[in-house]
Amino acid sequence: MAIDFELTESTHEARAFYHALARDQMRPISRRYDDDEHARPQEWIDHYWGHVRGAAPRGGGRPGDGFVRTCIQAEELCWGDAGLYLRMPVSALGGAAVVATGTREQRDRFLGPFAGDGPPIWGAMAITEPAAGSDSAAIQTTARLDESTQEWILDGTKIFCTCGEGASQDPGGFVVVWATVDRDAGRAGIKSFVVPAGTPGMKLVGLEKKMGIRVSDTATLVFEGCRVPADHLLGSAEVKKRKADRGFKGAMATFDASRPIVAAMAIGVGQAALDLVREILEAQGMTLRHDAPPREQTAIERDVLEMEAELQAARLLTWRAAWMMNQGLANNLEASMAKAKAGRAVTHVTQKAVELLGPEGYSTRHLVEKWMRDAKINDIYEGTQQINQLIVARRVLDYPSSVLR
Ligand SMILES: Cc1cc2nc3c(=O)[nH]c(=O)nc-3n(C[C@H](O)[C@H](O)[C@H](O)COP(=O)(O)OP(=O)(O)OC[C@H]3O[C@@H](n4cnc5c(N)ncnc54)[C@H](O)[C@@H]3O)c2cc1C
Repeated sequence: MAIDFELTESTHEARAFYHALARDQMRPISRRYDDDEHARPQEWIDHYWGHVRGAAPRGGGRPGDGFVRTCIQAEELCWGDAGLYLRMPVSALGGAAVVATGTREQRDRFLGPFAGDGPPIWGAMAITEPAAGSDSAAIQTTARLDESTQEWILDGTKIFCTCGEGASQDPGGFVVVWATVDRDAGRAGIKSFVVPAGTPGMKLVGLEKKMGIRVSDTATLVFEGCRVPADHLLGSAEVKKRKADRGFKGAMATFDASRPIVAAMAIGVGQAALDLVREILEAQGMTLRHDAPPREQTAIERDVLEMEAELQAARLLTWRAAWMMNQGLANNLEASMAKAKAGRAVTHVTQKAVELLGPEGYSTRHLVEKWMRDAKINDIYEGTQQINQLIVARRVLDYPSSVLR
């Protein structure tokens, strides 16, 4: 199958649409919601839910380039504000988990409401626990079936759950919770459950105060005797010990879909910083020469060209991983490559931007100091830099996770 890096005309249109949305609706409120951590950006939520959903250009693309477009949307909106992007009422990671592990009927049932006309709703996904982050197979949250009522009962604590406030509290929302139905079965015993907002026994106990993406609601959720109907277990309840990892594979499949999106988000933040550097340098009368031979380049030119190259390399890796996803190809290696590259690139590019702009970069007069803070999370969630490098090494060297860990 041929790979084509040219975007179709309609994808260009979509890109321009999201860029304008980012510039006109996100940038003007970016600083306010960074300062006022945890305030709900109602104007943005209403605007997105009421005017943007359904209004974005669709169709006309190559068959199957939808996921590349999703990445382009993520990049452009994070060029606007990565925190606000995360605070959009969408099914988000929760939706990705339903798609990766649910049946067709479950997909329709749980994701259908996101296309409805009701009030804004959110999805979230909760894997991480106080004693299980990178090693997600170590989760302690349990799910046991009450045979008499045919309900699953969840008990445990989930931390760092993005969109956890909206998804657990607002009507219509849901949290996909990963729990073990059989500790002795290890990874094979791990399953995912859809817990609708407001379910008794699911408690929002706090929101994380953070360095960056401060408008994003990162929640701690406690589950105590939290009951959901049997058909809220996504996929099959069967624990197939001989086919190890079966339930757990759902979680990993979710990451194969979400890592290219997080990579795209990182690139958007990095591009914002690079664009500002260019704008300020040009306003100061400096012309950046792309064609100057290396020995004639100024230090600033070399830095800017390196920033451009890093972002473009990350972007191409990201589009490849997204394109493979569209083709139904296994993209575990490519998704981790893109995520690792983009996480490192955005951290470097935003720090360099602050450095190049000096005190002006460090000051809150511009958003670049915020982008430097917003950047680092891309190297942490959805698998840290180290974990994604580990996955790449396993795939390239063909070592199982039991050997290379
Ligand atoms: C803002 C934010 C939002 C988040 N959103 C969500 C969410 O929506 N849902 C969710 O479930 N989780 C979420 N997370 C959790 C996130 O995915 C985890 O923090 C991440 O997976 C790392 O796990 P940990 O925090 O336990 O760190 P640890 O696993 O303890 O890692 C600490 C350090 O050790 C390194 N390390 C760990 N194991 C290895 C290894 N084998 N080899 C080399 N280095 C290693 C890591 O790379 C890291 O540098 C979020 C986190 C944050 C900060």
